[in-house]
Amino acid sequence: MTAIDEAWSILKGLGVTPRTAEAGRASRSPVDGSAGPALTETADLDGIVACSVAAFHAWRRVPAPRRGELVRLFGEELRAAKADLARLVTLEAGKITSEGLGEVQEMIDVCDFAVGLSRQLYGLTLPSERPGHHMRETWQPLGPVLVISAFNFPVAVWAWNAALALVCGDPVIWKPSEKTPLTALATQAVFDRALARFGGDAPEGLSQVVIGGREAGEALSADARIPLVSATGSTRMGRAVAQTVAARLGRSLLELGGNNAMIVTPSADLDMAVRAVAFSAVGTCGQRCTTLRRLLVHEDVAEALIGRLKAAYESLPVGDPREEGSLVGPLIDADAAEAFDRALAQAVDEGGEMIVGGARLGGDGAYVRPAIVRMPAQTAVVRHETFAPILYVLTWREFDQAVEMQNAVPQGLSSCVFTDSVREAEAFLSAWGSDCGIANVNIGPSGAEIGGAFGGEKDTGGGRESGSDAWKAYMRRQTQTVNFSRDLPLAQGVKFEV
Ligand code: NAD
Repeated sequence: MTAIDEAWSILKGLGVTPRTAEAGRASRSPVDGSAGPALTETADLDGIVACSVAAFHAWRRVPAPRRGELVRLFGEELRAAKADLARLVTLEAGKITSEGLGEVQEMIDVCDFAVGLSRQLYGLTLPSERPGHHMRETWQPLGPVLVISAFNFPVAVWAWNAALALVCGDPVIWKPSEKTPLTALATQAVFDRALARFGGDAPEGLSQVVIGGREAGEALSADARIPLVSATGSTRMGRAVAQTVAARLGRSLLELGGNNAMIVTPSADLDMAVRAVAFSAVGTCGQRCTTLRRLLVHEDVAEALIGRLKAAYESLPVGDPREEGSLVGPLIDADAAEAFDRALAQAVDEGGEMIVGGARLGGDGAYVRPAIVRMPAQTAVVRHETFAPILYVLTWREFDQAVEMQNAVPQGLSSCVFTDSVREAEAFLSAWGSDCGIANVNIGPSGAEIGGAFGGEKDTGGGRESGSDAWKAYMRRQTQTVNFSRDLPLAQGVKFEV
């Protein structure tokens, strides 16, 4: 059975029978390059938005803790369907089995987080300067939320948004990547199971999936009935969405590209650093927004670290992500493999020295050997996010210089330092340290945890999803004043008698 056939049979097992089209974008698996039926694209976008608006009018009246109950049930259904969903992530996005399972676990974790949140949508109470008044800030539901997601986190990113949006009182319209529609439909089916158990106070259209490509994302982003567009993907896409949404004075929450670095200092524990580099530079075949792309290592430890990484890379098991021993699966498609080849050629042109990897593996699917390239400086190719497993190595002498190098790229998502020096660690975390949204000490740049807000700065879009107070993006803040006196003091010092 081909990988895409297996994906379709899992979908069928989950009770989903999508409408297929004679022509159009075939469903595909990067595992073996197999192609399956094309899905019918959603035609009636206007109807989808209208249904979401109607759902909003009902859902905002349901008390937030009750909304949390739906998300709690969804978490239960996700636990029950974890193996199937994870397998679909493997088949459609090419992630190794443990990463597929990890992705679904993130969905479950954010559901748990959101359930607690549904009783903690706190506002402030404020002392009023006017006698007999009280003032408070109340967080109100916002309206339909559009979630545009990327292929490389085909389900977790939607869940980060949806779990928060739902407890905040907002329905969700999901435009998944055109490369991973089956996983999205499966997720919707799991959500429908939770809805069936929840009862009648959940309106129709609380969560809807739109099958389509970039054009569908563009049309929905322009729709003024959608107050918040949460988009995850390339910087190119983010720029387009930001402009469209800003033009109608809507709100966007953007999670875009990364070009993440690790600084390794002379005092670093190199055993830990080697493991952290390998995990964060080659995991998901270099297709994570938080993938480690730049290794900034002190001159004195560079040779030792590069030597050990070379040995580790040479023994990396690259292959079918379904196989237990595989640590690196395929790139998403042939275009991604071409981008990998082009970036390596450009790196060599720009003075880079190939240390290891870089070859394409034969057979079906776009399998490549992760590469390490030593670069003389942060040239154009180093400053660009190539969504493939290429690690650029650069050296430095002074710690301040390393921090400057870390910050000298347009992207600002995740960053880390490996050091045993408290001074270096704290300097890295200080106001003049890392300029990224995520800054880690003695742990690599990838592997987000639900509790903290996730996101970056600069070209990354500046959005924050998932934990901490990220929920505020999904609500509107209202300052409320109540006069419980018999006077009408308008404002301090103002007299207005009629
Ligand atoms: P992509 O930008 O090609 O597509 C992402 C989504 O945007 C898809 O659903 C696509 O259909 C849609 N889209 C594309 N152009 C659009 C437009 N003009 N208007 C509206 N929608 C549009 O990205 P990809 O190749 O699927 O994913 C890889 C990228 O995503 C990388 O840059 C990666 O760093 C980034 N990413 C970021 C995060 C994060 O949290 N920061 C997480 C995952 C992926």
